[in-house]
Amino acid sequence: MSRPILPGSMVNGQPTTLGVMGGGQLGRMFAHAAQAMGYFTAVLDPDATSPAGLVSHHHIQTDYLDEQGLKQLLACCAAVTTEFENVPAPALRTLGAQCPVAPGADAVAIAQDRAAEKAHFVRCGVPVAPHAVIDTADQMAAVTDDLLPGILKTTRMGYDGKGQIRVKTRAELVAAWIELKSVPCVLEKMLPLKAECSVIVARGADGQMVNFPVQLNEHRDGILAVTSVYEGAVPADLAAQAVAATRAIAEGIHYVGVLCVEFFILEGGQLVVNEMAPRPHNSGHYTMNACDQSQFELQVRTLAGLPLTQPRQHSPSIMLNLLGDLWPEGTSPAWDKVLALPGTHLHLYGKVSARPGRKMGHLNITGTTSEAVRSTALQAAALLGIAAF
Ligand code: ATP
Ligand code: MG
Repeated sequence: MSRPILPGSMVNGQPTTLGVMGGGQLGRMFAHAAQAMGYFTAVLDPDATSPAGLVSHHHIQTDYLDEQGLKQLLACCAAVTTEFENVPAPALRTLGAQCPVAPGADAVAIAQDRAAEKAHFVRCGVPVAPHAVIDTADQMAAVTDDLLPGILKTTRMGYDGKGQIRVKTRAELVAAWIELKSVPCVLEKMLPLKAECSVIVARGADGQMVNFPVQLNEHRDGILAVTSVYEGAVPADLAAQAVAATRAIAEGIHYVGVLCVEFFILEGGQLVVNEMAPRPHNSGHYTMNACDQSQFELQVRTLAGLPLTQPRQHSPSIMLNLLGDLWPEGTSPAWDKVLALPGTHLHLYGKVSARPGRKMGHLNITGTTSEAVRSTALQAAALLGIAAF
């Protein structure tokens, strides 16, 4: 990736095109950012109505490992990124042999595996929750009681709290593993959380790295509900620690692209790393309206080998996730009332059906002070039927 892929030019008689593996909302917002800069976009996703496929110049509707599909993607793209961490690493290896792919297969493979991910955090000197890897019945038998109560998490394919069971006793642990079909798991000790936060960095192939400010996150039922980003939302010393840890984690795998690292803040004030996402993250959606560059613009820049400059947050901000629960029986929320509030920015992902818990969109709120933003966000939440925070 030595030469930048400049937008608005032609390559082999075609407009310069950037590709993305996966057609969810993150791919859609990547496509929007790439198109704003003059790139064409291509999405590979089997779903005919995928949010990103609907807004992209090209939509290749095959499985992620389909040889023909990958060939088609390579034929039109100058570089390829991913929008969800469960894209099979072998597909990224196939693509990476022929064009720039960021993040690379090795980084994605680590993020796809909770055990490998934790080992990487430890190598980087960042504290993780006490845990045990459970791949076999012998490892299950060897689990020590100090990890209980805990959370049993599948090593692979978890998201939004799926593939996780909370257990208090050894009997519950054994039953939970059977319920998870005895696939490889990690048992994590249940920690007393005071709060959760995350940090997003973007790193270029040349090693240059920039970061967004630290995001304070509130999860409900294992799903992100509210992100708040303003001076003092996270105490300055903890914020500095989280940024330094995230930078070390990205550096340690020579990461190229946008990376999000999620942390727990414990009752005693210690910072413990939870997990990383090798892509833009739900907790970074506020950047679309509150920063001079969004996380998706930085994804485009890292992919195209363009320069990175430190993003600047110009407004205090709160993001509310809009889940399918807000669309009971085909009704639609009162957007006219919500958008009458100052500094509200609506983002909907074009999903055709609303199921409870499904991420349908988000509402960004910006203002001049954290008090003003909180007050507007609480009014918007009340109008939407989202519990106060
Ligand atoms: P997502 O993809 O939305 O980030 P996930 O399925 O990967 O979610 P985790 O991030 O592992 O799940 O956990 C979801 C939430 O459960 C966390 O944000 C936190 O609120 C809670 N949680 C997870 N692990 C622990 C723990 N060891 N102690 C206390 N709470 C935890
Ligand atoms: Mg998580």
